[in-house]
Amino acid sequence: MNRVASGGSSTSTKCGYIVRSILRDKEFENWSSLPSKGKGVKLFDEEKKLNKWFFEKKGLTDAEWKTTIKMIGNVAPVRGIPGRSKDGYQCRHCSTETETLAHVLGSCPHDFLLRNTRHRTIRSMIAKELQKVGMETREEIHCIRNNRSTARVDILAWNAVSKKVTYWIQLSGWRLQ
Ligand SMILES: [Zn+2]
Repeated sequence: MNRVASGGSSTSTKCGYIVRSILRDKEFENWSSLPSKGKGVKLFDEEKKLNKWFFEKKGLTDAEWKTTIKMIGNVAPVRGIPGRSKDGYQCRHCSTETETLAHVLGSCPHDFLLRNTRHRTIRSMIAKELQKVGMETREEIHCIRNNRSTARVDILAWNAVSKKVTYWIQLSGWRLQ
C-alpha cells in the first residue's frame, strides 16, 4: 500500500511503529521466558544503556558481534545446552566436565594458554590507559601480604608526581607463590 497516496502517511507510520513495538516486546517476552536458551536475554532489558554496542558494533567484527549475542542469550554452541549435542554433555576437549560457556571460557585445561594470553592482553590494556592519564605502572609485581605470604599483583599504579600508590589491581584473584 502506498502510504502517501492513502493520505495518511503520518498516521500509518505511527501505527506501524506501535505495532512493531508491541510485536518486539511480545517476542522479547517469549524469548526471555524460554527455560534454557532465554536465560541471559533478560540482561538486554536490565542494562539498556549498555546495549548501545548492540546497534553500533563498535570495535567488534561481525563474527565477534554475533558470538557476543549468542553468549549473552545462552545459545553459544556448547554441548551443555539441552538439545545441542547427540554425543552427550561432556567437554569435547577435556571430557572431565559439562561443556558450558563458563567451563570453556574459564576453566577448561585445553584453553589455558588462550586464557593466559587474554589475561595479559587485558592487563596491558588497563595499564596503558592508566599511563595515558599520567600514572606510572608496573605489571606482575611480587609482593608480601600482611600475613607474610607472597602474592603477585597484576598492576600497581601510582601518581607519577606524588609517588602515592593509587591502584592495586588484581584481575583474577590472588595467586600464591
Ligand atoms: Zn574442557
